[in-house]
Amino acid sequence: MRELEGKVAVVTGAGRGIGAAIALELGRAGARVVVNYRSDAAAAEAVASALPDALLVKADVATTEGCTALAAAAVAWGGLDVLVNNAGITRDNLAVRMTDAQFDEVLAGNAGGTFRMCRAALQHMMRARAGAIVNLASVVGLRGNAGQANYAASKAGIIAMTRVFAIEMARRNIRVNAVAPGYVATDMTAGLSAELLGKAEEAIPMRRLGTPAEIAAVVRFLAGPGAGYLTGQVIAVDGGLTA
Ligand code: NAP
Repeated sequence: MRELEGKVAVVTGAGRGIGAAIALELGRAGARVVVNYRSDAAAAEAVASALPDALLVKADVATTEGCTALAAAAVAWGGLDVLVNNAGITRDNLAVRMTDAQFDEVLAGNAGGTFRMCRAALQHMMRARAGAIVNLASVVGLRGNAGQANYAASKAGIIAMTRVFAIEMARRNIRVNAVAPGYVATDMTAGLSAELLGKAEEAIPMRRLGTPAEIAAVVRFLAGPGAGYLTGQVIAVDGGLTA
């Protein structure tokens, strides 16, 4: 089924990892995909060239200017029907050692970027009286994780603002939901020690990390008409970790 045929979907941070898998999956659903990246043009070009209809846009979604320009580029290309706020960073450190810069950068990039990108996209979606937004949260926004006070605060903030945007936009036919992945095999988790990954796998009832494709499948569902009565929800895709 190509349930997103003709729709324009913006995926932030789509050059690699989960974002790349989401861009490809939405393309398989029929969407025209705006592939956003910040620094690695070659990786993002590879994703765009694997899609039948894609627009490559370099923008830093941690800034208001970047979000405004990205939304405008999508609208000029044909619309903005689906927004996936995937871009995210970590700057791990134990809380007592965490610097202001580490805390502020993660809050500004993850929570601030999601807020600014939603605000920019909603200008268009409100006029169109239609739209679907999927925010990438994390199980770390639902429960704590040592070394990630900044990241946990940013992801809990994304979950909270997902609910607020959903309530504010429900009457305008715009749905806003979040996916909270557990441990997924990407560059973000590649830096973790073998010991930590081993412990994580032991704690996951399914005894393995997730794949980017398994996250993308749920994002596709939330973005599409099958989730037409679903808004303000957070779906943990975590192999049972939070069960
Ligand atoms: P990743 O491999 O580190 O990729 C993150 C992507 O986001 C990169 O392409 C990066 O581009 C981009 N990005 C970061 N900040 C950006 C900005 N300000 N503007 C534009 N692009 C930006 O991460 P991932 O594992 O795929 O994670 C994707 C999302 O899922 C994130 O929100 C993450 O927090 C969430 N998540 C991941 C896991 C996991 O286990 N992997 C678990 C839970 C949640 P640059 O290279 O240019 O920085």
